[in-house]
Amino acid sequence: MKRSLWLKDTQGIGYAAEKKKADVIVIGAGLTGLAAAWLLCREGRDVIVLEAAEVGCGTSGHTTGKITSQHHLIYHYLLDQFGEEKAKMYADANQWAVQEYIDLINNEGIACHLGEKSAYVYSHSDSSPLEQEYNAAVKLGLPCSMDSVSFSKNEALAFHRQAQFHPREYMMGLASKIIDKGGSIAEYTRVLKVEEKKDSCTVTTEKGSYESEFIVYATLYPILDHTLFAMRLRPVLHHGMAFSVEEQEHEGMYIGVNDISFRYYKNTLIVVGQHQHMGEEKNSYETLEEKARKKFKVGKELTRWSAHDQKSPDRVPFIGSYDPMTRKRFAATGFGAWGITHAMVSAKIIADKIAGRENPWATLYSPWRTGKLISTAIEKGKDTLRSLVKGKHMCSHMGCGLVFNEYDQTYDCPCHGSRFDKDGKVLWGPAVKGILGAKKSQ
Ligand SMILES: Cc1cc2nc3c(=O)[nH]c(=O)nc-3n(C[C@H](O)[C@H](O)[C@H](O)COP(=O)(O)OP(=O)(O)OC[C@H]3O[C@@H](n4cnc5c(N)ncnc54)[C@H](O)[C@@H]3O)c2cc1C
Repeated sequence: MKRSLWLKDTQGIGYAAEKKKADVIVIGAGLTGLAAAWLLCREGRDVIVLEAAEVGCGTSGHTTGKITSQHHLIYHYLLDQFGEEKAKMYADANQWAVQEYIDLINNEGIACHLGEKSAYVYSHSDSSPLEQEYNAAVKLGLPCSMDSVSFSKNEALAFHRQAQFHPREYMMGLASKIIDKGGSIAEYTRVLKVEEKKDSCTVTTEKGSYESEFIVYATLYPILDHTLFAMRLRPVLHHGMAFSVEEQEHEGMYIGVNDISFRYYKNTLIVVGQHQHMGEEKNSYETLEEKARKKFKVGKELTRWSAHDQKSPDRVPFIGSYDPMTRKRFAATGFGAWGITHAMVSAKIIADKIAGRENPWATLYSPWRTGKLISTAIEKGKDTLRSLVKGKHMCSHMGCGLVFNEYDQTYDCPCHGSRFDKDGKVLWGPAVKGILGAKKSQ
């Protein structure tokens, strides 16, 4: 698989933690894990981050890099399905997160091409969903307006006071601030097992054991879970491409109702879209390129990539305790491709839980809420059972049949999202072991 635009133009550091014991172990050094580590270090906690590969090379290194509370069309849906109080929690949490990024990046002086921008949802056909969303956003106090855009006859829904950045530069910068605050990071240290005892947790990795009072699973999909999350999350694969351009034709960050998402970075146009279920066999890059060339003046292709995110049944992420019994282990997942602000929201909810503080948004995001989740779990269970018998190679996570993705040259798990390279090494969890006789997972 090719490297994303962000990974192509940044170098890893090769962090190796010397400490083996801390107050909190964070598993995963993506946007979520690093934000959690940062907030906890800032509160004086001793933190170790354990990362299977390099800082920021999971889904966080493959995003469009839009720091926004505009999550496609969600607020009308939330008002309708969850009521005003909970919809407001979602709006407040995510708009808070946008400002928290801006403040953190500015206060700590992290060089990551931060640009404050408006985010737009556009539609070339029926504009009534945009108007509904606009009314919902106004009701919830979000900074929005209906504005004209040059590429559509319809007005687009604009959210103001949003931002964009270079996600890998930000993560590399934040990692070094975590170290400055006394935290430790271990790269190429895949976690294989976690045991919770009465007073502490033991984490076994390929490079020895670590101990802590609390654990944060920030692994996109909570590793080592075989039922509680597995039955409810769906991996959705997204595609990105970067093209050289002579000039930036548009100022903001854009996403279509049924169309691509795009933004600029220097002399590059980034387009993201063509999401599909993991394991679907189609050439989404071809369609994405066709759309980009039709819409914009673009030059040569610079790179292309795919990455997935996990989707929860009711479109609200799961942030809170890892299982209903534990008070020591926490997880954040199910961001549905809107995980940049949610990474910060997760960090805040989990830091509050560890400190024993109330959090105003925790009930909305609780992984143990009920409702639509139960019936989806049953459906998901059936899907998993069906795919257990399919596929030439089996996933090391739960034995689901893997599908070979010829466009990225990876083996993909349609049920839970693990991905393996051609030699069977783990590229994306939740699997912690390779396949095809790969000796190690990296
Ligand atoms: C193409 C695309 C575009 C997107 N654009 C946007 C956007 O513009 N705005 C937005 O808000 N959201 C966007 N998203 C969603 C967002 O990128 C994700 O929700 C977010 O990056 C998830 O971050 P994370 O830290 O939870 O997961 P990740 O970044 O995947 O981090 C998880 C980390 O855990 C590590 N790990 C896994 N297993 C283990 C183990 N056993 N031991 C140790 N470490 C382990 C991984 O190596 C990885 O580094 C986009 C997603 C995609 C796919």
